[in-house]
Amino acid sequence: MNPKLSATATDFIDDAHLTGLAAGPAPERARVRDLIAKSMDKQALAVEEAAELVRADDPELVEEIFAAARTLKETVYGNRIVLFAPLYIGNECTNDCAYCGFRRSNPEAIRRTLDVDEIRRQVSALEEKGQKRLILVFGEHPHYDARFIAEAVRTVYDVKVGHGEIRRVNINAAPLDHEGYRIVKEAGIGTYQVFQETYHHETYARVHPAGTAKGRYLWRLDALSRAMEAGCDDVGIGALFGLYDWRFDLLGLVRHALFLQERYGVGPHTISFPRLRPASGVRLDERWMVSDRDLLRLIAILRLSVPYTGMILTARENAELRRQAMTFGVSQIDAGTRLELGGYTEAGDTQCMEREQFQLGDVRSLDEVMRELVVDGHIPSFCTACYRLGRTGEHFMEFAIPGFIKKFCTPNALTTLLEYLVDYGSPETRAAGERIIAAELAKLPDDALKVELVARLDRIRTTDDRDLYF
Ligand code: SAM
Ligand code: SF4
Repeated sequence: MNPKLSATATDFIDDAHLTGLAAGPAPERARVRDLIAKSMDKQALAVEEAAELVRADDPELVEEIFAAARTLKETVYGNRIVLFAPLYIGNECTNDCAYCGFRRSNPEAIRRTLDVDEIRRQVSALEEKGQKRLILVFGEHPHYDARFIAEAVRTVYDVKVGHGEIRRVNINAAPLDHEGYRIVKEAGIGTYQVFQETYHHETYARVHPAGTAKGRYLWRLDALSRAMEAGCDDVGIGALFGLYDWRFDLLGLVRHALFLQERYGVGPHTISFPRLRPASGVRLDERWMVSDRDLLRLIAILRLSVPYTGMILTARENAELRRQAMTFGVSQIDAGTRLELGGYTEAGDTQCMEREQFQLGDVRSLDEVMRELVVDGHIPSFCTACYRLGRTGEHFMEFAIPGFIKKFCTPNALTTLLEYLVDYGSPETRAAGERIIAAELAKLPDDALKVELVARLDRIRTTDDRDLYF
């Protein structure tokens, strides 16, 4: 046995089984309704059940799935959207992923690793825009070991400008071994994300050359199991859609989520479903491209299949698609995003493909995105309370504990929104944001919690008190 794998490392992806499931007969309408009813009852679907929703191709059934995801989102998850920004720390990479601008065989890529001062400058700029939650992104390179990542995390937490501070640092980096996860956990990371890219073995081998670290399918599939065993139980899974059949990779994600839940008693904290974007020197294979409608379908099916899980949609997608996707259950988005190394202080307004991993679809500022969210009736949130209070499994608690959202999530969303509006919002965004705060307060019962919330909101408006979480 390879000692660096998890204690019980298994390849739990059975290609023949998932392929068969994705291609079976379309389900009856009554069956789709039964599955929807199960989701509405906040129960996870089995992979076989999720596959039935995938096979429901009939346009009317697809509309029912969209409607169900929308209802589930509205009635159970509420109207909060968590905001974050990515910060690329280094793009040196020893892998050669066929789809990525950072791959080692790309001579056009401009390589760079931010030093401590450069990280501090980027973080200051992000704080000055109002960001509170970051995800640090790294290529895979011996320089970027667990200690290096931990140091970067500490540097970020250390930067405080005015009322600005980063309250949660997530990571998207190469798989680590058990000791590595212990080191990054010690630095206070939030979620550790590793995307499998594609669960389909043959495609995986085609786009990740043998002889590179990423060429080892099981090492990567087992990555978050090792994290769990090392005490990092806040993990994010993902698949890069466009490499292979979206139906198969959607089922791979559901299988992975259920595997972690069954084996470790905790499912993934988040699921990401990035769609392949143009990148420097990359020729995209059109064959498995996912249409906008199929992307929305897969988001709706994931929402119905995997409860207790945050769903992330990044600025790879354009503003209009992100807007639609939010109604189907996306719970986190990035905003004000720049992908170039050093891009939060150095770049102009245009994107430079040689400096970034792929091209963005939504380049609006944080303030513009905040304004659209509040005008559309969402509550943008920078809440980090559960993580800071050691309340792990927050998505589970949101569902399992009656009243949890009302008692904690909504008040924390409103206080963090108001902090943004007072400290960083443009006059138009502040006015629209104050309207949604008033509307949300009007929905709350007149109890002690509301009195306390109103008092804290007033403190944020009239004093320098911040970070007043419940
Ligand atoms: N290097 C680490 C890795 O590969 O896991 C972590 C960072 S990598 C820069 C983050 C993610 O970007 C990858 O997991 C992949 O899903 C995504 N990505 C790579 N190339 C992309 C492209 N052309 N379009 C969209 N997403 C891409
Ligand atoms: Fe390197 Fe990650 Fe890009 Fe692959 S996806 S080339 S591992 S940065």
